[in-house]
Amino acid sequence: MKRISLLGSTGSIGTQTLEVIDCNEDMQVSALCANRNVTAIEAQIRRYRPAVACMMDAQAAQDLKVRVQDTNTRVLSGMDGFVEAATLPTVDTVLTAVVGVIGLIPTIAAIEAGKTIALANKETLVSGGCLVMPLAKKHHCPILPVDSEHSAIFQCLAGQQERPKKLIITASGGPFYGKSAAEISHVPPSSALQHPNWSMGAKITIDSATMMNKGFEVIEAAWLYDMPLENIDVVVHRESIVHSMVQFADNSVIAQLSTPDMKLPISYALTYPQRRPCKVEPLDFCALHTLSFQAPDHETFPCLNLAKKAANIGGTMPAVLNAANEELVYLYLQEKISFGDIAMQLRRMMELHTPIPSPALQDILDSDTWAREMIKKSF
Ligand code: MG
Repeated sequence: MKRISLLGSTGSIGTQTLEVIDCNEDMQVSALCANRNVTAIEAQIRRYRPAVACMMDAQAAQDLKVRVQDTNTRVLSGMDGFVEAATLPTVDTVLTAVVGVIGLIPTIAAIEAGKTIALANKETLVSGGCLVMPLAKKHHCPILPVDSEHSAIFQCLAGQQERPKKLIITASGGPFYGKSAAEISHVPPSSALQHPNWSMGAKITIDSATMMNKGFEVIEAAWLYDMPLENIDVVVHRESIVHSMVQFADNSVIAQLSTPDMKLPISYALTYPQRRPCKVEPLDFCALHTLSFQAPDHETFPCLNLAKKAANIGGTMPAVLNAANEELVYLYLQEKISFGDIAMQLRRMMELHTPIPSPALQDILDSDTWAREMIKKSF
């Protein structure tokens, strides 16, 4: 039996993870954690009967405690509760699908407790990759990617003995593909939330519209596969069928293809090294007609290069970029800033920050807080 602690159970990846668990009789949910959606997590608790449930929000945890007092589930709250859920002695695998940098502390705790990590929370590696990767190595703790691009690379590398020469990450281009910077500088959130191929949460959908999501994925790939940034290419692939590719010394390229459905990478991370049947539509190549590839438009989408720049500078710079981006995306969703402001403000924050090289966890958390406060002060 594989016992799973699911951090971020009520979000898009969380609910799809539970669908995958439904298809595997040898998987059990030991812990469910979420931010504040009490109604959704109560229904999940009644269905999956976990030993522990945790709400990040203290008031939500109180409400939940009352609602599920007739069950055997112990209700925890806050970051301490997340850490306890991520380190339960009975748990084998921790799937982190929370949104934002709050995934960092429980992921570090889970690694130190020797758990296998199934990682869907990219902010953890963007902000804290310099801590998380050496720690995972020290504790011989596997980090299995859940993001579709990183899962694709992971699948392409399976069974290969040579290190790849290059990673090629595909990008759908998002809802504003083909537009100019001027055309999208004032688009409303309702347009930015219309992703052509993937159904995801609001934060990541806006990150896809600015292409910051792809920038973060480049940083994440560099950490996961110990690959220099200059050996990671991004190619726009509108159809989202090729999820990423790997090029080897002989220039042979291996790609992973499937219908765009997150249940596949989730299932692979939870069943690895096995492959099991999964409720994902098979590809119909004759109906596909075309698979297209082109270079990203860096003028319209400056966030991609900002992310690479932050990663090249290193230290606490990626953490600042990530924290500022999180705050800016929420401001944009509340219509307090324009779409064009996101990249402009990120550039300003990177100029203001003096990065700390080889940061400790506290340096990363402090830089994160600094960036959020700077943004909040400005608007
Ligand atoms: Mg992705």
